[in-house]
Amino acid sequence: MSGQHTAVQASDGSAFSQRSTLNAQRLIDTHVHLNHDDLLADISGMTARAQAAGVGGFVVVGYDLPSSERGIHLAEGDARIWATVGIHPHEAEAWDEAAAAKLKGWAAHPRVVAIGEIGLDFYRDLSPRPAQHTAFAAQLEMAAEADLPVVIHCCDAYEETLSVLEAHADSLPGVILHCFQGEHRHAERAWARGWFLGIGGAVTFKNQEALREIVRAAPPECLLLETDAPYLSPVPLRGKYPNEPARVALIAEKVAELRGSDVAALAAATTENAARAFRMASPPCPVS
Ligand SMILES: [Zn+2]
Ligand SMILES: [Zn+2]
Repeated sequence: MSGQHTAVQASDGSAFSQRSTLNAQRLIDTHVHLNHDDLLADISGMTARAQAAGVGGFVVVGYDLPSSERGIHLAEGDARIWATVGIHPHEAEAWDEAAAAKLKGWAAHPRVVAIGEIGLDFYRDLSPRPAQHTAFAAQLEMAAEADLPVVIHCCDAYEETLSVLEAHADSLPGVILHCFQGEHRHAERAWARGWFLGIGGAVTFKNQEALREIVRAAPPECLLLETDAPYLSPVPLRGKYPNEPARVALIAEKVAELRGSDVAALAAATTENAARAFRMASPPCPVS
């Protein structure tokens, strides 16, 4: 696809202006729920608009059993898609032996690149905390056994989550802290171990100066870009639902601006990080 100075119409009617530099990019949306009903309904539009915005790869993240299975099916049908499988802390009460057996089988699938999203969410507390801890620890052990990295969801629980991860660190091949919202000292603990920080729409929000400070200070090799679509649309589309993977380009622009970097260089570096984080055998080809 060529697209010098083309404008792509998003589902909400806003236009992404495509500069020629964006066409040379090959961004990866490292955390997107194309397995969610609200995105599945328009998946060919979502991926086409993303491709036109320079986004050539998608890590589709599972949050329960059905979404994990849908992610694998999507990845089987599209070389630009990889899948992760796991049970989100909101769904922690669904954790049982049958769920463990299913996930363990899927973890061996060649297109499954991580266990996740898993972790602790003490902000919404939609599951009892003991159930969250049980599901989290069991899935960390599963990841270690399957030799897969983990995608971590964490909200208002950075001390607890980092302590649990640090206790498992030696057996885990990698850790991705998606939608990072911790404090500077938490970020330092993560990058001291070579873990990755997923940076999404929040970096564009007015009240997120502390996150922007972390993004400015982060070692370049730890940064990943993500939308978490259908959630968390970045400014200037904040509050618009659903978010979509094309908008990872807006996040790339913001992160590049914060780091005083060229957008194309930032895209190349974060894509290389994604390929390393998820050990992708063949990162997507440049969009041309
Ligand atoms: Zn999450
Ligand atoms: Zn998510």
